[in-house]
Amino acid sequence: MAKHPSGLEELPLGIDLLHDPALNKGTAFTAAERKALGLEGLLPPIISSQQQQVQHIINNVRRKPNNLEKYLYLIGLQDRNEQLFYKTLIEHLEELSPIIYTPTVGLACQEYSRVFRRPRGIFITKHHRGHIRGILRNWPYKDVRIIVVTDGERILGLGDLGSNGVGIPVGKLSLYTACAGIAPNVCLPVMIDVGTGNKGLWSDPEYIGLPEARLQGEEYDALMDEFMEAATKAFPHVMIQLEDFGNQNAFRLLDRYRDRYCIFDDDIQGTASVALAGLYSALRMTGGKMTNQTLLFLGAGEAALGIGSLIVSSMVDQGLSEDEARGRCWFLDSKGLVVESRTDLVQQKRRFAHNFPFHRDLFSAVNAIKPTAIIGASGQSGTFTPEILQAMAKLNERPIVFALSNPTSQSECTAEDAYRHTNSRAVFASGSPFPPVVIDGRTFVPGQANNVYIFPGVGLGVLASKSTRVTDEMFSAAARCVAEKVTREDLEQGRIFPSLSRIREVSLHIAIAVARLVFTRQLTAMKEPSDLPGFIKSKMYDPVYQKDPRADTVV
Ligand code: NAD
Repeated sequence: MAKHPSGLEELPLGIDLLHDPALNKGTAFTAAERKALGLEGLLPPIISSQQQQVQHIINNVRRKPNNLEKYLYLIGLQDRNEQLFYKTLIEHLEELSPIIYTPTVGLACQEYSRVFRRPRGIFITKHHRGHIRGILRNWPYKDVRIIVVTDGERILGLGDLGSNGVGIPVGKLSLYTACAGIAPNVCLPVMIDVGTGNKGLWSDPEYIGLPEARLQGEEYDALMDEFMEAATKAFPHVMIQLEDFGNQNAFRLLDRYRDRYCIFDDDIQGTASVALAGLYSALRMTGGKMTNQTLLFLGAGEAALGIGSLIVSSMVDQGLSEDEARGRCWFLDSKGLVVESRTDLVQQKRRFAHNFPFHRDLFSAVNAIKPTAIIGASGQSGTFTPEILQAMAKLNERPIVFALSNPTSQSECTAEDAYRHTNSRAVFASGSPFPPVVIDGRTFVPGQANNVYIFPGVGLGVLASKSTRVTDEMFSAAARCVAEKVTREDLEQGRIFPSLSRIREVSLHIAIAVARLVFTRQLTAMKEPSDLPGFIKSKMYDPVYQKDPRADTVV
């Protein structure tokens, strides 16, 4: 007999089966299944195909009055019928990923305490110190292979949301499943609730988290250390993704754990990889060489510094010295241009401080540095002003403009602004999606530098090869893979990322490259399969209903 995805030998029957999201098929249970599984009379008489159900779901989503309602409806479906949720998500990814992930998930997190219905994942607090491993054992699925963990301090561009940020790991893991076929039963969302710096939440009677100040220093580190050790002991082949930690902790935790555990930080490494992918494709449009680019970043946080570091490695791979490569990356943070004369720079920024006059604002820095690309990761809307875009168009035949801040309301400029103020010459990408723009009868499809092009594929490659580490080299390889999947037709429309409808193909391409690296670098005890692409493909979860084998005996 088939096993339950949780590993249990016993499969549920009757009403328990209908209440089991991993096995429930709703009205798609056949007559034979209904008879064999004790479902007769528990379902309305109609027997639907899965495809009819998908159509029904998408019709219902479209009827909802706003995006938050759409989100809640889809999360409800995920709780009731996982296979139908993923089938619908895969078939309508371009329409639904902005609902289950950014930007709508940000709104959902802000409202999380009020819209909370069913928990999904594990919540860990300081009160669990000393027995976190036991807490992890409460999770019903035993072969967890991916954990996405946050402490809620810096949710998207929205700041500290404490436990309300749990919507982020939940959404991210749904994307792992939809975009790379990572089975839902190997995914675990984790919220480490260490309190919140958002004092508004302390006095909110509906807040679901700990209404107190954040743990800091040794207490914080001890909790994280115990979590890391417990998670890797409880789930020996697990990959852990750090998500939306505050700036200081994100870099620190990554440095602290990257050589000890299979871990990465999506805000730093995933973002860097997708931006590098965008740059590779943009250069196919502008005809420029990577080593000749001068990049000016607005913002010097996790995203911007992560992108800068990966671009430096890419330039070094292409022949520049490390110093030359760093000399091509410039940063301007909330205090102004990152230059040597500043005394307030933390270590990560100091690495990029140049011997150059200080400039307070972006417009004067653009005119002084003459960048080929401006990359916004500041969380500040409207900071790529018309004057700055016009200046970029004066300096470059094809200026590269990436406005990466999320959500849409925080974007440094809109797609329309980028095209309009550069005489339609900008090569544009944004963090959150913008609709196509029509200027003088020509349609431009703005690219979305969405980390979803990267992390699911990297995760699939790491899982399939049982890698013990996640390395920067994997993210460089992933960036190349994404750029390789951008077609000539995409580029003609201004699109520097492949269509999301091809994401599973892109993820598989990345996973194969990542797994090859794992075997070459000997990061696994596993033997390389003779047909690696076929092996990885066979690991991908496909949410198509299967006939329940217990109905075979019914005639
Ligand atoms: P962060 O808090 O670590 O960094 C923000 C940086 O912006 C800081 O260096 C800060 O000094 C700087 N800043 C703030 N106001 C500024 C101003 N007025 N002028 C210049 N600099 C200013 O945050 P982060 O993780 O780096 O994320 C930044 C943004 O990037 C967020 O909006 C996030 O949503 C977005 N992001 C996008 C992607 C993507 O597109 N794939 C991925 C990750 C993050």
